[in-house]
Amino acid sequence: MLKKVLIANRGEIALRVLRACREMGIATVAVHSEADRDSLHVKLADESVCIGPAPSPQSYLHIPAIIAAAEVTGADGIHPGYGFLAENANFAEQVENSGFIFIGPKADTIRLMGDKVSAKHAMIAAGVPCVPGSDGALPDNPDEILKIADKVGFPVIIKASGGGGGRGMRVVEKKEDLLKAVEMTKAEAQAAFGNPMVYMERFLQRPRHIEIQVLADEHGNAIYLGERDCSMQRRHQKIIEEAPAPFITPEEREKIGTACTEACKRIGYRGAGTFEFLYENGEFFFIEMNTRVQVEHPVTELITGVDIVQEQLRVAAGLPLQYTQDDIVLEGHAFECRINAEDPYNFIPSPGLIESCHLPGGLGVRVDSHIYQGYKIPPNYDSLIGKICTLGKDRAQAAAKMRVALAELAITGIKTNTPLHRDLFKDAGFLEGGMSIHYLEHWLQERKEKLAK
Ligand code: ADP
Repeated sequence: MLKKVLIANRGEIALRVLRACREMGIATVAVHSEADRDSLHVKLADESVCIGPAPSPQSYLHIPAIIAAAEVTGADGIHPGYGFLAENANFAEQVENSGFIFIGPKADTIRLMGDKVSAKHAMIAAGVPCVPGSDGALPDNPDEILKIADKVGFPVIIKASGGGGGRGMRVVEKKEDLLKAVEMTKAEAQAAFGNPMVYMERFLQRPRHIEIQVLADEHGNAIYLGERDCSMQRRHQKIIEEAPAPFITPEEREKIGTACTEACKRIGYRGAGTFEFLYENGEFFFIEMNTRVQVEHPVTELITGVDIVQEQLRVAAGLPLQYTQDDIVLEGHAFECRINAEDPYNFIPSPGLIESCHLPGGLGVRVDSHIYQGYKIPPNYDSLIGKICTLGKDRAQAAAKMRVALAELAITGIKTNTPLHRDLFKDAGFLEGGMSIHYLEHWLQERKEKLAK
């Protein structure tokens, strides 16, 4: 087993990884920027190393500083968390070349799945259904682009092959706007991801976002842990997630889950991963794979009892998975609310001092958060300050528990999106379940119009 793990991340996920290590008797090393000296993961880790100033390119994204910290502290493995370097194939490669274990898939797998065009090719080859669209990257020739769009059918979405985090996408309703949109997306993709390659997909009108959690080891085993519904999104960013996805039948789950595990075996996948799909009219369409632990992994842990981060650590050490597919039984229903330090109406980030903080608790309530009273949220990073999850015997009970938990949550000094979550857990449409990825945007628009009156 690993003896000492360096956690190359911050915030709630650093804490999540730290806890998993602790339970397994693995020593922990926190790395942090100058802005994160007072962070909880730094205080709780066995050792900590300051790796640079606040801006992430000089700290959490600075590969030589992280590898040097691993060398100095004698860590044997590096866990990247999510975001930052988690899906950076060069980082994974440098970690392994420096003699450390990268807690994630092989660098080649990250590279293959990190490029959305090559990922789609790999999935088509593995028999995983994809969104209809261009066969690979769009050509330069305008006539050919127009031809492809006619075949795909409007509206279409132009997506950056190197894109991520909901950026680098543009919906095109009509032919006249197509070529300009392609040019703009290409320029943005080059600026944001250093890769101008874009591709085209049919823009699905009312899909849901449903994703499959997988775990695979180096001994040829791969299992799926059911699905999550992440359709509640604002600007392509998830806000509430749940597991299982409402109205998905056991037959549908088994079919798509098996397709994913078969794909894992085919590409030699290792560790935890997520296959993301759009789901419409009973059909799944692959959009991308995340080769890391995801923000919303706790809802799956709650209904399966599997500690996904501990399985990552075991697999990275070369051990086989502790579970077979038959061991995986989904029990109950779980929700996750992402608590962001932001204005609940205009979504402007709200960093600063947390004057007081009361976090909820009780049976079936899980809180993953690095904040505490007196903690100062730095302005340099993501606005996620915690996740509230609930587990109930069914969806209604999980929602009732979430209402109580959200009512108890009290943070002063900064603004959070808690009021938004409270409203959504009273919303009839959301409570019905199975809403499309556009539901929240429409809901927000209606709220805005009501407030303007
Ligand atoms: P990212 O890597 O930036 O998260 P994804 O490919 O996962 O990009 O897409 C993010 C979100 O964008 C999806 O959850 C969905 O809301 C929307 N989206 C992506 N592709 C399509 C499509 N073909 N039709 C409709 N919506 C889409």
